[in-house]
Amino acid sequence: MPVLVMKFGGTSVATLDRIKRAAKRVGVEVAKGYDVIVIVSAMSGKTNELVGWVNETSPMYDAREYDAVVSSGENVTAGLMALTLQEMDVPARSWQGWQVPVKTTSSHSAARIEEIPTENIMGRFEQGMRVAVVAGFQGVSPEGRITTLGRGGSDTTAVAFAAAFGAERCDIYTDVDGVYTTDPRICEKARKLDRIAFEEMLELASLGAKVLQTRSVELAMRYKVRLRVLSSFEEQSDEAGTLVCDEDEIMESNVVAGVAHSRDEAKMTLLSVADRPGIAATIFTALSDANVNVDMIVQNISEEGRTDMTFSCPTDQVARADKALAAAKADGVLNFSELVADTNVCKVSVVGIGMRSHTGVAAKMFRVLSDEAINIKVITTSEIKISVLIDRKYMELAVQALHDAFELDKAG
Ligand code: ASP
Ligand code: MG
Repeated sequence: MPVLVMKFGGTSVATLDRIKRAAKRVGVEVAKGYDVIVIVSAMSGKTNELVGWVNETSPMYDAREYDAVVSSGENVTAGLMALTLQEMDVPARSWQGWQVPVKTTSSHSAARIEEIPTENIMGRFEQGMRVAVVAGFQGVSPEGRITTLGRGGSDTTAVAFAAAFGAERCDIYTDVDGVYTTDPRICEKARKLDRIAFEEMLELASLGAKVLQTRSVELAMRYKVRLRVLSSFEEQSDEAGTLVCDEDEIMESNVVAGVAHSRDEAKMTLLSVADRPGIAATIFTALSDANVNVDMIVQNISEEGRTDMTFSCPTDQVARADKALAAAKADGVLNFSELVADTNVCKVSVVGIGMRSHTGVAAKMFRVLSDEAINIKVITTSEIKISVLIDRKYMELAVQALHDAFELDKAG
């Protein structure tokens, strides 16, 4: 029988009633003839509570015990979901990560899935079990300890199961009804997309559209797992939600698929850096050693052997970046006059695979911003994305103006 993976996020399993509602959705797919693998998150708020308990007990906690505690929320929902399905006469059984086993690396709290053997669950399907309810977000290390995959990791569990079992699709049930052209809270004309390509979703996910964990989209793209994002709060048809799929499955679409934003960006500029080979390597090694996630990088034209180097990073990493660069200067490995931080910027980006074959998107974007008298501070581009840093106070205005100008409220 074909396999379907259905993942329910924290808000979709937040109460016993909601678990019942989710179980009914599972029942519908079982009735269609699917063997279903259900991946569950912890009830919403649970993981935060568990993380809080760990921090309170032991601020410098042992990461193995953090995982032992924090993974437990999913165990509860897995068991409850299996019981709910049994009450509906659907043959179901719960599985914790180690029972499958979901084999991961041993980087506790940020483990990566290495392998998911399918024999155990497949064997049970052959014996008549119709639903395997698997606790998301967790696995087992080579040493036999429980691991977790990082916050939001159940999405990645779901995609990994879909890939391992060759599932027809991986349905991600959440509290929004799909992927939108932009954040509906900022732009009332935001439109739900019927389909979006993996690469576009990846850009949107990493640019701050929080529907799916970025890692799960990477994995889906690599294994060509068709993902459907849909709401567990509405009656669903087969066409509901947004399908994240290969671009071959998308006939025609707008050149720009969506506008993304990310509020907490900082722009850092090193003034008057000696311009010689190795200088970028020195700066960005110091930053990466300090775990600063650098995003945009611009090096200016140099004058008399000195140049300015600008980069962006999340606002809460500014202090770390500052410290790392000051230390490099004090050690004599880096020579610059001043580090200027602008913590009042945001990033706005337009994304679309159509940009590969259409020109003029950048020109249009810059024109739109200039018509609104918004000054652009830094620009970066990739094949399918153009991003700008602008003053944070203009974020909403920029998103709305771009959404209008690229007519994203209309289907392509
Ligand atoms: N419960 C975990 C978290 O909140 C994993 C997940 O829900 O995806 O991060
Ligand atoms: Mg989530």
